[in-house]
Amino acid sequence: MQHKILVSACLMGEEVRYDGKHNLVEHITLNKLKTQNRLILVCPEMLGGLPTPREPAEIITTSKTIRVKTEQKIDVTAQFIEGANKTLQICLDNKIDIALMAAKSPSCGNIETYNGEFNRTLIKQAGITAQLLQKNGIKVFNQNQLNEFFKYLEQTN
Ligand code: SF4
Repeated sequence: MQHKILVSACLMGEEVRYDGKHNLVEHITLNKLKTQNRLILVCPEMLGGLPTPREPAEIITTSKTIRVKTEQKIDVTAQFIEGANKTLQICLDNKIDIALMAAKSPSCGNIETYNGEFNRTLIKQAGITAQLLQKNGIKVFNQNQLNEFFKYLEQTN
């Protein structure tokens, strides 16, 4: 049986982003995987109990702590961690080892996220959920890495 694939819900057109919009990625192979029922869509921030729309949040990393806060300084770390844990559990329950997640998101970004100062500056740091999945051996790609994602999928599934 072919493995399921975890996908950020906003990439498949679900309006779950902080601003109530989506990040739809139109791709024939992705649509085929969807019709084959291979995709499991999640929005970690909503799984963590946050509403849509919601205030945008960024990760604030110091030498001692990692927190997630909105621009109004509301601490949403607990919701982000809960969403990450629930997403990991979904992966474990479904034996998922590959994910396609939204770039730059403080939850889903696999390579870089904003620096916590709300000045549109990116730093090398994965989002809270992406980090947890990566630590658990799940390969995470973003929508700008579709060729690598499909190649990896072909080789491993
Ligand atoms: S948490 Fe992930 S799935 Fe949800 S809106 Fe943000 S990027 Fe998309």
